[in-house]
Amino acid sequence: MTTKAEPLTLRKYFYNIYYAVSTCLKGMGITFKYIIAKKPVTIEYPEVREVVPEKARMRLYNDVLNCIACNQCATACPVDCIYISSINRPKDLETPKTEDGTAKRKILTQYTIDTALCCYCGLCTTVCPTECLTHSHDYEFAQYTVTEMKYNYMDDDIIAWRDRIVKTR
Ligand code: SF4
Ligand code: SF4
Repeated sequence: MTTKAEPLTLRKYFYNIYYAVSTCLKGMGITFKYIIAKKPVTIEYPEVREVVPEKARMRLYNDVLNCIACNQCATACPVDCIYISSINRPKDLETPKTEDGTAKRKILTQYTIDTALCCYCGLCTTVCPTECLTHSHDYEFAQYTVTEMKYNYMDDDIIAWRDRIVKTR
């Protein structure tokens, strides 16, 4: 029995060597194809930045000067992460208008979005009647704590950020 099993074992031994070498060469062939022929898939961030698609939905941008505090965005938001406060404009005060001519009957006092909760669905921007709420292309807004992800769009630092991204839009 021992003598009959030997040729089979020997054949299997050489087959295993052949299989190991051929699969290794096949794998290395794929690796070298990528090294030689394909462009690198990584970039040297932050020196190089990705160009995001035209319709990408990144950090929300509210041009509060054109916001009429209608609350439609907050109502449409599926995760309730938009917080709006406003007061009725006194009747003896002149009613200003947005850029598209809509009367601003309310005075906006707070417009906050908790971007830690936001799922970037875009529903809020779709319903905005004055189109002041849009998705920017800014994806660099990481913070150290979750509470810092809550932005009041009437704060000075957000206004500075708005000015920066408006220039790059
Ligand atoms: S993008 Fe969606 S989840 Fe985010 S604030 Fe707008 S409606 Fe809410
Ligand atoms: S829907 Fe537009 S105009 Fe109305 S509160 Fe929201 S951001 Fe302001």
